[in-house]
Amino acid sequence: MSVVPVLVINSGSSSFKYQLLDMSTERTLASGLVERIGEPVGVARHTVYAASTSAAAGEVTGTPTFLDATRTRELPISDHTAGFAVMLEAFASDGPSLADNPPVAVGHRVVHGGARFFEPTLITPLVEINIDELSVLAPLHNPANLAGILAARRAFPDAPHVAVFDTAFHQTLAPAAYTYAIDADVAASHRIRRYGFHGTSHKFVSEAAAAFVGRPLEDLKQIVFHLGNGASVTAIDGGRSVDTSMGFTPLEGLVMGTRSGDIDPAVLFQLARRGGMTIDDLDDLLNKRSGLLGLAGSNDLRDIRAGIERGDERAVLAFEVYVHRLRTYAGAYLAQLGGADIISFTAGVGENAPHVRAGALETLGFAGVEIDPDRNESPERGIRVISTDASRVTVLVVPTDEELEIARQTLAVSRA
Ligand code: ADP
Repeated sequence: MSVVPVLVINSGSSSFKYQLLDMSTERTLASGLVERIGEPVGVARHTVYAASTSAAAGEVTGTPTFLDATRTRELPISDHTAGFAVMLEAFASDGPSLADNPPVAVGHRVVHGGARFFEPTLITPLVEINIDELSVLAPLHNPANLAGILAARRAFPDAPHVAVFDTAFHQTLAPAAYTYAIDADVAASHRIRRYGFHGTSHKFVSEAAAAFVGRPLEDLKQIVFHLGNGASVTAIDGGRSVDTSMGFTPLEGLVMGTRSGDIDPAVLFQLARRGGMTIDDLDDLLNKRSGLLGLAGSNDLRDIRAGIERGDERAVLAFEVYVHRLRTYAGAYLAQLGGADIISFTAGVGENAPHVRAGALETLGFAGVEIDPDRNESPERGIRVISTDASRVTVLVVPTDEELEIARQTLAVSRA
């Protein structure tokens, strides 16, 4: 079968990540990171993967099984366009050759699609203007995503470029779920509503879960916990997002690595009036100095775990607050859906922290949720069941793969 290369770009303000996939096999061929763009010395890392041919090394799957080589270079990288030139040099020198197999399409992660983009979209100059205009809603993310798009279009002028939006999957939310109960005119004039994020991951995981249990997506009620540094949970009915914990921005909802998640907004009034904090101070507090970091001094759940083992009371409390919030949302979404067929856990914490999974669902026996402790603790990788055979709700761990999902959607749009 001939190779069908699709390049996926995830661009930040001073860095971008890329991944080249062969969509005939859905295998990653290469990935890389270009960072410290605009600083005196930038860094470019390029990794080439080769499929394992030895049965002992495991089956060839969508994820790389054998690491061929990584090369890191340090050099000044003035802007995203220069960064793409560095990436192209890495492909030319370390492979795989883009001259032999140029990408048939380039997919871009775009954080905010507002209420405008509800599906992956072929990028035209008009779409670029819309992404730019949506920077009002995502001032940190959309301009950075757009910088990547513009540079990538210069680097690959002949390939179709496709925008895949983090918010798109949640455009199926009903007004009752996305409307904040504030003055309707104020909300409308500033486009204040819940948008939801991590959509690419929630879509990928819910579809993978349905395929794994061998039932049609349309028939299933699902809850997906995406627990990484950022964390969100989504209620999915028949493949459609009906509620999600992130809102106007990714700050709402669960306790995260550095973000507070849900908080009484009046706390901010108090901190401004009594604590003399500015809007920027408050933004910094809730987005960067809260969550696990704020409670226990580290945003990494492994450190929290180590703290608990040392008897650190702050770590114990941080873990309890984290799990308490998960349980609250699990109950809420069971209620919104009227029960669930599948509950899945994904991302760094969701895939690796059995004590979090157990804690989140511990009290849900009444709703037919029963975790099997041995299955939950098993060090096995890959998609797997962690509920008992008797559990009415199937609980899964599903490794997410946002790049693969972006590549799939990109290919579908470019072929349409
Ligand atoms: P991001 O949201 O940045 O993509 P990830 O999904 O990679 O993040 O999740 C990163 C987080 O996952 C880490 O900060 C850490 O809290 C958690 N994590 C990663 N590995 C483990 C592990 N083995 N055990 C517990 N937590 C882990």
